[in-house]
Amino acid sequence: MTTTRMPALFIGHGNPMYAIEPNHHTHGWQQLAQKVARPKAILAISAHWYIDHTAVTAMALPRTIHDFGGFPQALFDLQYPAPGSPALAQRIQQLLAPTAVTLDQSWGLDHGSWSILLHTHPAADIPVVQLSIDASQPPAWHYALAQRLRPLRDEEVLILGSGNIVHNLGRLNWDANAPAYEWAERFAHWVQTELRNNNPTALIHYLSQEDAQLSVPTPEHYLPLLYVIAQQHPEELFGLPMSGIDMGAIDMQVVTVGMG
Ligand code: ZN
Repeated sequence: MTTTRMPALFIGHGNPMYAIEPNHHTHGWQQLAQKVARPKAILAISAHWYIDHTAVTAMALPRTIHDFGGFPQALFDLQYPAPGSPALAQRIQQLLAPTAVTLDQSWGLDHGSWSILLHTHPAADIPVVQLSIDASQPPAWHYALAQRLRPLRDEEVLILGSGNIVHNLGRLNWDANAPAYEWAERFAHWVQTELRNNNPTALIHYLSQEDAQLSVPTPEHYLPLLYVIAQQHPEELFGLPMSGIDMGAIDMQVVTVGMG
């Protein structure tokens, strides 16, 4: 092989404050990124671009979107000035055909992307594009669509999924030492087991799990996981380098594909 096949990473992004308050999660992301070769570009699939169709950011200079409220000014002042890549956007459009993919000129990089990239690629000198998640489609559709992105790994594109496997904001416990809810623990453990069993089919059909009702009350933070595990080649296993549940109901699991 003459080029480096890039891995694909799913990272639980958690609280936006982690962008300005480094902690054991962000240190772990940094260490993970140091084991990955420098990509030519990054394709991010963020829970926070969940719309009614599939789109890819196609502008040369994506803006930094502060898509949250009630946080300190320091978080709104942050910028992640990475360039975009109109060429990669077109390549993605081509790979995903015949599914229609809009070349978007209005979105940018939302905090699902930049709150991680600030730690993993702090120089912001690698082009980044985002792919939206079509809210009208079921999980199996997303997995099948994402499989068509797999050639990008051999074109030195790092695929980054950003969400949280368990994500229930209505049940958050703001005590930093709060234990995980039992349903959150069970669902997170079930996902880990199916990843270790190399069973993407079970993970696509996660709604068959009773604990999914509370753990995944809405799909947008879970679906980026399917985009990442769909990048698997037949000989590859999934890696689970970091795990842990924050604030009772936010799973910080990291999942890798193609990192041995
Ligand atoms: Zn989020």
